[in-house]
Amino acid sequence: MSNLDTIDTTDTIDTITHFINGQKVDTASGRYADVFNPAIGSPCARVALGSAAEVDQAVAAASAAFPAWSNTPPLARARVLFKFLQLCQQHTDEFATMLTREHGKTFDDAKGEVARGIEVVEFAVGIPHLLKGEFTDQIARGIDAWSMRMPLGVVAGITPFNFPVMVPMWMFPVALACGNCFILKPSERDPSASLLHARLLKEAGLPDGVFNVIQGDKITVDALLDHPEVQAISFVGSTHVAEYIYARGSAAGKRVQALGGAKNHMVVMPDADMEMTVDALMGAAYGSAGERCMAISVVVAVGDAADKLVDALAKRTAALKVDDGMEHGAEMGPVVTASAKARIEKLIGEGVEQGASLLVDGRNFKVPGRENGFFVGGTLFDHVTPDMTIYKEEIFGPVLCVMRLPDVGSALRLINANEYGNGVAIYTRDGGVAREFVRQIQVGMVGVNVPLPVPMAFNSFGGWKRSMFGDHHAYGPEGVRFYTRHKAVMQRWPNTASAGAEFSFPQMK
Ligand code: NAD
Repeated sequence: MSNLDTIDTTDTIDTITHFINGQKVDTASGRYADVFNPAIGSPCARVALGSAAEVDQAVAAASAAFPAWSNTPPLARARVLFKFLQLCQQHTDEFATMLTREHGKTFDDAKGEVARGIEVVEFAVGIPHLLKGEFTDQIARGIDAWSMRMPLGVVAGITPFNFPVMVPMWMFPVALACGNCFILKPSERDPSASLLHARLLKEAGLPDGVFNVIQGDKITVDALLDHPEVQAISFVGSTHVAEYIYARGSAAGKRVQALGGAKNHMVVMPDADMEMTVDALMGAAYGSAGERCMAISVVVAVGDAADKLVDALAKRTAALKVDDGMEHGAEMGPVVTASAKARIEKLIGEGVEQGASLLVDGRNFKVPGRENGFFVGGTLFDHVTPDMTIYKEEIFGPVLCVMRLPDVGSALRLINANEYGNGVAIYTRDGGVAREFVRQIQVGMVGVNVPLPVPMAFNSFGGWKRSMFGDHHAYGPEGVRFYTRHKAVMQRWPNTASAGAEFSFPQMK
């Protein structure tokens, strides 16, 4: 049986529009892009591509809404988000259906993505507490001081295709809770979820103009980066675009957090529980067809760990159930586009040419009844070395590379020399080895016997090195800092007896 039997998908959207000032708005530019169902390999909708004029319209709506929204008490803002949270829970299947249809991930995985997004709303409803400043009584005679966190104004989020529900929700719940107005520029590959976000926020009572969606591509992004009224940019996507966004946005005087790509390693020590390790690797490497910024794409097998690992991995990889993500039992769906499939298959070819051992080959994979779908089967390489393209590049597909190293010191040196530093994991039973690894590794998110150490909503998410440009990580307390400006206040009120004019710092007395 398929999830398609139980879920109504008849409301397919033909044109996915912008959402400005509480209304759906089609593009006046006449530019559109096709949105594909990757399991079928044909377009399921088209999306408007915004021009600079449409960005202006969205920014004007957000600027107009800002005074009232930023003056709305934090508790009242939290109440809107509470309602939104309930609506997201009620519409989980609707979100998940959109995700599977446009992204390709399995329906269960899509529901998991919605749940991880909702967690950030659960964090953001605590905003009255999170915005509390620090107060010092009597810093000098008759003078008190305190700090406040003030919203920035109009802020924008530019998001990738791989988590079209969750990544926007890393951003806007916190930004809105802090009193900002938000413009979302979602990925043009799977844009439908953004309009459901907008609809549910409106239904929750968010005033028009506070949350806007502008669909589009580089032209749209550049207009946001250059717009003088946009105060901050949150970006998640590939490293070369993240670096560009950071440079152009900062040059325009904006606050920017730009999260980029990754090459995540899992170090497997010879004493690791191999069954637990193989189970973890299957989900971490092949879940969502490897299209996760925290996916494990490299196993660093230390000592004789590889011999114990590789056979089991090869058997499990060859047996992966690859299918339309709406089919029950599918473990992995297609990759997002025909060009992603072609790129991944080309990289697999380069791995073979450069001397890696291809143990399971996912090229030319066909799913019966879905012959035009963008499927790549699970792929496993052994004997990968640091000079190979499959090690150096982020493949962003279902391809796992095994590397063999003699000791944990060599593993640390390899990972610390890698240009990326998003996530990493170590599997071992030795607490001392794990502790030293955690302390010495140059990576932002570390798992000990946990394959994908994605922080919960009340911690913050972000990588190091070329996996992140900017200072504040996403969501959690760092998100609150990113979306607010610190203000320090000192206050004195006239006392009954004035001391007369003062010519030195009052604190000195
Ligand atoms: P992408 O960089 O191609 O696109 C991201 C966004 O930028 C999209 O909205 C897109 O329209 C826009 N964009 C694309 N090219 C642009 C350009 N030249 N100028 C301005 N804007 C441009 O990324 P993607 O393919 O959608 O997503 C996959 C990438 O995102 C992977 O590299 C993955 O590792 C990364 N990612 C990182 C994280 C993280 O937290 N570090 C999370 C998710 C995804």
